[in-house]
Amino acid sequence: MNKLLTRIQSGILPSQEELVYLLSQDDFSEIYALADRVRFENHGDIINVRAILEFSNYCKRRCRYCGLNAENKKVFRYRMMPHEIVQVSVRAWDAGYKTIVLQSGEDSWYTAEILGDIVKKIKAQTEMAITLSCGELKDESFAYLRECGADRYLLKHETADEDIYASLHPCGSLEERLHALKTIKTLGYETGSGFMIGLPGQTLFTIAKDILTLHSIPIDMAGIGPFISHPDTTLGSMPNGSTELTKRAVALTRLLLPKANLPATTSLGVINASEKDHIFSCGANIIMRKVTPQKYEEHYNIYPSEIKVNDILEERKILEKQIKSLGRVPV
Ligand code: SAH
Repeated sequence: MNKLLTRIQSGILPSQEELVYLLSQDDFSEIYALADRVRFENHGDIINVRAILEFSNYCKRRCRYCGLNAENKKVFRYRMMPHEIVQVSVRAWDAGYKTIVLQSGEDSWYTAEILGDIVKKIKAQTEMAITLSCGELKDESFAYLRECGADRYLLKHETADEDIYASLHPCGSLEERLHALKTIKTLGYETGSGFMIGLPGQTLFTIAKDILTLHSIPIDMAGIGPFISHPDTTLGSMPNGSTELTKRAVALTRLLLPKANLPATTSLGVINASEKDHIFSCGANIIMRKVTPQKYEEHYNIYPSEIKVNDILEERKILEKQIKSLGRVPV
């Protein structure tokens, strides 16, 4: 194992089989320690804090794991108006956030023009970096939004296995998803992808392929989180993904992509709050905080979650305290 880790550290890409071998170790402590060191060498002790605003839960897709899928009639659907999105973003800036992620279901109400306008208005009033996470768009829309000033785009590939992808996504293909990611990367966005741990049919080979897929793009940011079953989806009776495997995947991704931004995903904290802290010793260096107004947030249930959003400024202070208690520096 040590020889393999040394090779990876010298920049040689491991094979899928080698990654499976690492993922299946009985004792992972050495790899966690190495990932933590690589994180420190590349990012120091800083934990970057990012705001996320979930501005619409309308979605035209039918992703089988997601509580927002178009077939779920139990969801109360909401759409924040552009002026409100700008207003909350400016409040996040005033509270100290330097980055905001604007996320939604795939909602065609927001044309590229409307989204572009929102981006321009936020840029006119703040110096925030803007990440969009609104699903798959046309190539020309990605290009237009980049011209409007969007800095980053987050579009998880979800799973790198074509068959699993097809079984979970009646509305799209892995090929289209990867095409969109390549387009995003080529346009000069900081590119975010990621995947879920514990999807039905997934094996360690799938996870190894997921990690190699991140490397092949190559991504600048990757959200890796456990699948959480949502009772109002067809996967409602499936078990949640493993937090241990999630941490292992994050640690190996850190070794393959030392410079990448790796968030502690919200879903990990939903399953186990202490694991979310622990992930920062496994290679993660980012945390996102919801700034979605509470009246909307309670309806943005991609998966069931008890997380409540209080006052943006208060939340930010609590988070900074938590980060400092881990011996890290919030930025
Ligand atoms: N419409 C956007 C945003 C999707 S929601 C897009 O397509 O990119 C953001 C992420 O939540 C998804 O990419 C997926 O990885 C994750 N997600 C959705 N349902 C989930 C579930 N049941 N458990 C864990 N993560 C889930």
